[in-house]
Amino acid sequence: MKKKHYRVRIKDEFTDLSVSRQRRYQLRRQKEGRCIVCGQPQVAGSFCLRHMIAKREVSRRRLGLTKRNYSLSYRLEEMAKVAQSARGRRGAKPPKR
Ligand SMILES: [Zn+2]
Repeated sequence: MKKKHYRVRIKDEFTDLSVSRQRRYQLRRQKEGRCIVCGQPQVAGSFCLRHMIAKREVSRRRLGLTKRNYSLSYRLEEMAKVAQSARGRRGAKPPKR
């Protein structure tokens, strides 16, 4: 017998909210502790490190900022780079972006 494919409506507290599909997706990811853009595990706020950096750079550009206040995303970025170069020294392939 052929297997039936159909969409099952997700029933949760976000189902009947009068917000867009995208916003519901974001709220569900946020509740799961995942990045609201890509679904990777959250680092801080609502984003993974990659999207946290992307968000920071977008707002820096929008506001025309040139100073760097060594905020959390810079610190985490630095730590990730150190960890990545340590992996590189051991001869492992760096993860694809
Ligand atoms: Zn992400």
